Amino acid sequence: MIRVTIKENLLFGTAGIPSPYKVLTTQDGIERIHELGLGCMEVEFVKGVNMTPPTARDVGKAATKRGIRLSAHAPYFINLNAQEPGKLAASRERIIQTARITALFSGGSVVFHPAYYLKDDPSQVYASVKSNLEQIVTKLKTEGIRVWLRPEVMGKDSQFGTLDEVLQLSAEVDGVAPALDFAHWHARTGKANSYNEFIAILKKIESKLGRKALDTMHIHLSGISYGPKGENKHLDLDESDFKYEELIRALKDYKVAGALICESPNLEKDAQLLQQIYRKL
Ligand SMILES: [Zn+2]
Repeated sequence: MIRVTIKENLLFGTAGIPSPYKVLTTQDGIERIHELGLGCMEVEFVKGVNMTPPTARDVGKAATKRGIRLSAHAPYFINLNAQEPGKLAASRERIIQTARITALFSGGSVVFHPAYYLKDDPSQVYASVKSNLEQIVTKLKTEGIRVWLRPEVMGKDSQFGTLDEVLQLSAEVDGVAPALDFAHWHARTGKANSYNEFIAILKKIESKLGRKALDTMHIHLSGISYGPKGENKHLDLDESDFKYEELIRALKDYKVAGALICESPNLEKDAQLLQQIYRKL
């Protein structure tokens, strides 16, 4: 797939409609993002793709009018390592449905939680995820749908999606790029929480995927609590030990561009905080 890479700065936004406005439509959410001075929003289909094509077109118009960049989060109920063929097919279908509706509102990326290891060897799981992703990409190509498919770096030991797994998939499967959740990676490793470690991650992405990956990054961030098995839950940034100021400094110093989606419970408040820090540097 050929895509035009536009060099631009990092945009900040929320995972879903900003929090005091939950009852409003996606179009209203876009207006709120604009009023808040933010630049992007992730449309949440985590419980299912529940948007009609005409609505998606209206959402796309609202976003274009306000210059807000959109992405989407696919349903949680996906496992590209499911044992039953029916569950695998349904998992692929959920990603495809999300990609179709995202293309209709001109969103650039679909983020998804790829798989669970279950009892399998990680290399076997990798092979299963890769082959299923290839099938999805082939199907989307035949439909002329061009959106980035972004497996997310996951926070729990039971979840497929280490940094290396996500980068390897991005290197090997056309149309796949990382969704880098820095909070998840910190929760999973207990590390990855300092300027130097963040820079090391960015360097790894550059060497594995090229500079263009850093020019079109998709980042998730929140505060987070965690234990021996990784992520417990998302927190507001100020309630957690995550060194977000150091991350923002690393992103700025390394001239990372793309979108940063805030997934803290307070959504827009932390999104604005991160944007403020970024702009002051
Ligand atoms: Zn996610």
